Amino acid sequence: MPHILIVEDEPAIAETLVYACQEAGLQTTHHQLGSDAISAIETGLFDMVILDVGLPDITGFDVCKQIRMSSDIPVLFLTARSHEIDRIVGLEIGADDYVTKPFSPREVVARIKAILRRMEPSHPQPQLTFKLDADGTRIQYRDNWLQLTRYEFGLLKTLMQHPTRIYSRAQLMDLVWSDAEDTLERTVDAHIKTLRAKLKAIDMNCEAVVTHRGMGYSLLK
Ligand code: CA
Repeated sequence: MPHILIVEDEPAIAETLVYACQEAGLQTTHHQLGSDAISAIETGLFDMVILDVGLPDITGFDVCKQIRMSSDIPVLFLTARSHEIDRIVGLEIGADDYVTKPFSPREVVARIKAILRRMEPSHPQPQLTFKLDADGTRIQYRDNWLQLTRYEFGLLKTLMQHPTRIYSRAQLMDLVWSDAEDTLERTVDAHIKTLRAKLKAIDMNCEAVVTHRGMGYSLLK
């Protein structure tokens, strides 16, 4: 049974997470302080960490940096503020995914399971047929340079970074649109639709860009 360390100082949120994880067949341990979490992770008993950014003693970012000095354990961040997202998705933190508060416990559990699936050593590596050129300005699919609009390009480039990760519409808006606040979630759907049509035009059987109902999109299953 995978063992999840939950690091969250708000009791109600922690309880919700513990309950949702246990319902999903996951073992949990809960800590309120970042320093306790760091000591706990050193025991090597855990398969994954759910880490709140705003903790009473040190920030979740500092906890993550400390963990990363000695461990590759997956980290799923919980964040209440959209400006924190930029730091989480920035590579220097070394997070695997994030969820913004308020969240649905079901979404958190789905993300935990997706991360745990990616960790399984037997999991076959997906066949990547997308290639970004050296300048990072064009994407090739089956030897064809794709003619993409700015947003189609941004979406595909983002999805390519972690091909099996599920990105919610809100996450894609944050990552691809510079003016996310004015962007509607259905705008993401519209650009995904045209992106898919362009991929299908090259290969009718192209199954790339997978819809996960109620959650979002991933490049590959
Ligand atoms: Ca907090």
